[in-house]
This record gives sequence, C-alpha cells and structure tokens, in this order.
Amino acid sequence: MPDNHDTPITAPVLVIHGGAGRRKHDPDTEQSARQVMTQALQRGYDILFQGGSSLEAVVAAIEVLEDSPLFNAGRGSVLNRDGKIEMDASVMEGHSQRAGAVAGVRTIKNPIAAAHRVMTASPHVMLIGEGAEQFAAGQKLALVDPEYFYTTQRRKQWQQQSHDPGTVGAVALDCQGHLAAGTSSGGLTGKYPGRVGDSAIIGAGTYADESCAISTTGHGECFIRKLIAYDIAARMKYQQLSLENAIRQVSDCCEGGIIALDHTGNVHMHFNTELMYRGFIRTAGQPQVFLYANR
Ligand code: ASP
Repeated sequence: MPDNHDTPITAPVLVIHGGAGRRKHDPDTEQSARQVMTQALQRGYDILFQGGSSLEAVVAAIEVLEDSPLFNAGRGSVLNRDGKIEMDASVMEGHSQRAGAVAGVRTIKNPIAAAHRVMTASPHVMLIGEGAEQFAAGQKLALVDPEYFYTTQRRKQWQQQSHDPGTVGAVALDCQGHLAAGTSSGGLTGKYPGRVGDSAIIGAGTYADESCAISTTGHGECFIRKLIAYDIAARMKYQQLSLENAIRQVSDCCEGGIIALDHTGNVHMHFNTELMYRGFIRTAGQPQVFLYANR
C-alpha cells in the first residue's frame, strides 16, 4: 500500500478589491489607494509565501484595507441615515466549509478579525451588533470609540447624500491548494439603521468551496437576492462550468464587481461599473493594481 505523506504544493495567489462603482477622479487619492492596495497584497502574500493559510492571508490583507481611511470598511466607513457607522464583514474557508460573519458592529476596529473569530472560536456563523462586540471583547480583539471610524470625507458625502464605493475583499489560494474568501464593508451611505449588506452574508458577498473563492462589491440587496457568490460556485459544481463561464453567466445580474479564484490559481476580476479597485499577486510576481478598465 502506498504510504505517501507528501502534501501538494500549489503556487499561492492573492486577489483583492477595494470596491466597484463611480468615484470622483482625484489623482492623489488614487495614488494613495494604489499604495495601500499594494501593501495589502504584500502583507497577504508574505503569509502565503511562508506557508500560511489562505484564510490568514485573506484576513491580513483585509485588515490593511480596513485600517486605511480611503476605503469603505473599518476606518473610513460610510455613514447610515442617522449619521452612524455600522459595519459588516464575513469570511469563509473553502475546504472546511467553515464560515464566520459580523453585522452592524460599531466599535470593533477590524470587523474581519471578528468574523474570523466567530468562525474559529464560536459555535456560530454570524453575530450582530452588541452581541458581536461583547464576543470580540472576550476574544481580546481591539475595540475603539466609534469616532475612530469617522473621516471628514465620509461626513461630507453623507451631507451631500452621495455614495462613494470602497467595500474591500480578498480571495486567496495557499500552498496546500486551499481557498478562502473574505469581504468587509460599511455598507451604503444613508442606509437604514440596522440594514445588513451582502458583505456579511455567506453566499451573497463571500463564498468559498474546494473549487473557487469569491468576494463581491456593489448593490448589496441585489447580491443577496441572487446569492451571487454561491451561484457562481453552484454553476461550477452542477453545470461543470469553468470559473470564467460561471462568472459570465451572472456578471450582469447586479451592478458591481466580483473577484474570484479557482483551485488552479486562475484569477478573474469582473465589474460592470465605471471602475473597480482591484489587484493580485502570484508567485515571484510584483503586485498588480488596477482602478479603471485597463489601468
Ligand atoms: N455591497 C456593499 C453593500 O451593499 C456596498 C459596496 O460594495 O459598495 O453593503
């Protein structure tokens, strides 16, 4: 009987997004966003390169984006109807089918870290509001005054009732061939208090299994109704479609964007909006970051 304990070594890949939609063209902000996205790719890729898991890489990359005020996640999240910030995040590991999520949180510095802990340290998949915050405190995660998340830019957009995108997400493939996906968002400017977006919903904004990992951004209500992230995985599984063809079939269902990876490392970044902040890094490669269609 063969006794082979060799573990498969796959070339790791990390893909991220920083939201899809329409944004005012501002070269300085765009330059800064490119830098932060490059840092996020490097942080996540270092983990993959050292043999860390796709799950760890996804969480680490998203934390970099949450800490930047330039994105609508963590610090810099958009304001709801009452001028408050309520954040959503979720994460999923493909091979184990484990998942975690938080919704409507107001004091957790890195909502993606809390989603990760819900997955690894609780018997549940999703915690909301104060319960999620108590759980995060029990896990010794960083809690901050809600004021930490506010930026002048987001207050201005709230007053003008204009929405600027900037939800963040990541998908990764590690050396073991395991996939993971995660998404984090402040949601939509002016949303009802208590509104939960697709970024917190497994199957809508985030999904991973053994063949693909998906993170979405855009009109959350649509992504929830159509369960876009799961639908892509289901088309691959039941119709035997390639990732590219599965995405093509759903790509125009909702306004927004999708980043996706399959188990062989194929990268897909699709959007039907003016822009999607996005990038990827793979073996021995430089981080590649794009904002508009070809740049
Ligand atoms: N999908 C997010 C939400 O609806 C928003 C976005 O991606 O811009 O909460």
